[in-house]
Amino acid sequence: MSRSAHPAGPRHADVYPEGHYTAPAADLNLLDEKVWARSVRRDDDGVVSVGGLAVTRLAEEFGTPAYFLDESDFRARCRAWADAFGPDADVFYAGKAFLSRAVVRWLREEGLNLDVCSGGELTTALDAGMPAERIAYHGNNKSVEEIERAVRVGVGRIVLDSFQEIVRVAHIAQSMGKRQRVQIRVTVGVEAHTHEFIATAHEDQKFGIALADGQAAEAVRRALRLDGLELIGIHSHIGSQIFDMAGFEVSARRVVQLLAEVRDEHGVELPEIDLGGGLGIAYTSEDDPSEPHHIAKALNEIVSRECESAGLATPRISVEPGRAIVGPTAFTLYEVGTIKPLEGLRTYVSVDGGMSDNIRTALYDAEYSVALVSRTSDAAPMLVRVVGKHCESGDIVVRDAFLPADLAPGDLIAVPATGAYCRSMASNYNHSLRPPVVAVNDGEARVIVRRETEEDLLRLDVG
Ligand SMILES: *Cc1c(COP(=O)(O)O)cnc(C)c1O
Repeated sequence: MSRSAHPAGPRHADVYPEGHYTAPAADLNLLDEKVWARSVRRDDDGVVSVGGLAVTRLAEEFGTPAYFLDESDFRARCRAWADAFGPDADVFYAGKAFLSRAVVRWLREEGLNLDVCSGGELTTALDAGMPAERIAYHGNNKSVEEIERAVRVGVGRIVLDSFQEIVRVAHIAQSMGKRQRVQIRVTVGVEAHTHEFIATAHEDQKFGIALADGQAAEAVRRALRLDGLELIGIHSHIGSQIFDMAGFEVSARRVVQLLAEVRDEHGVELPEIDLGGGLGIAYTSEDDPSEPHHIAKALNEIVSRECESAGLATPRISVEPGRAIVGPTAFTLYEVGTIKPLEGLRTYVSVDGGMSDNIRTALYDAEYSVALVSRTSDAAPMLVRVVGKHCESGDIVVRDAFLPADLAPGDLIAVPATGAYCRSMASNYNHSLRPPVVAVNDGEARVIVRRETEEDLLRLDVG
């Protein structure tokens, strides 16, 4: 994400010269419900709780850093997406955002489907009892072994990503005496991030088959000819952290155009379209995500309108939210270590984790918020940069934020909206131990992914 792509207006650092920040408008003790999981509150004693459990107690029991995930919020978001799209559409949770066996069970129970993009994700899904027909398999370079297994267990769809893969999947399915349901992933020439989208994005990327130059039409032609494949539709995924429906509008129009071409050429109306994921969430108070029912209404209207004008029956729609389901449901709890005020610049606050548990700030220049959660404070706001403990100067968790000036070592601070792409992208950099994910629900806390131990590290190091 480039700096100019930030939707929230210019950042403090772009507006104010270093050291001349204006104080934040809101009381630092207030928690903006937009960025925190639903059961998070600040209790009367000043300590923040989730699912009725105080973070001070959670830190004692599970240690820091740790991710705390609000299970009832996760389930509620699954239901909101499923209800918004209704029985005539399919919601696939994008497992790459965060996947564990408990998550798979929640998805199963709440009626969602699941996207996987590797053998490891498929194993997790099957192990936790997700029916194979509710799984979609993605990826630009699925191995032969991965395809064989996906076909053998009977995944509901494989999303074909290249000309080679069309032939490969067809061959594998045929040799097993099967006909595999597939979609073709197309690159629609739309790129969307946050509030901006480019309708004429070049197709210079590794995913999908370009609509341009008739390549996608050629892919459909080939797929329809192969006995091992049942082509059920077209897939498109245009970006991430998207707030504006305009990019989906252009993407849907172009996909429907292809469906019309396919009908004209082959006399076949493909029954499904998948519009991908990428719906945005609030990382800071400045982000304003839409509710699932607004998104569903907008997408349904766009697709119906485009199909009507092309004289096509409206296909079954599927969507693949990852971040929008799990992102807001978790926060990372850290203990404050060293505090280093740099005169005229800012104060560096070091925590006991960092880029190994949240790489998004370093990787994408992502923005996060942060709050003091183990107590309240009436001290003045101080401008901070929350950094990790790794040997890397880019090891930043929250680039610009305000915390109370009386912050001290041992205080607990929490970074909200870390449910997506934090644990799933976590690393062992500096041989750090990846933090646990603790599910909290109605007064109970349960480890769903345990903390790594030094034995785990040594087990892989065979000497
Ligand atoms: C990553 C991805 C998603 C999920 O994206 P989010 O931003 O988490 O909603 C959905 N579909 C595909 C194909 C993806 O690659």
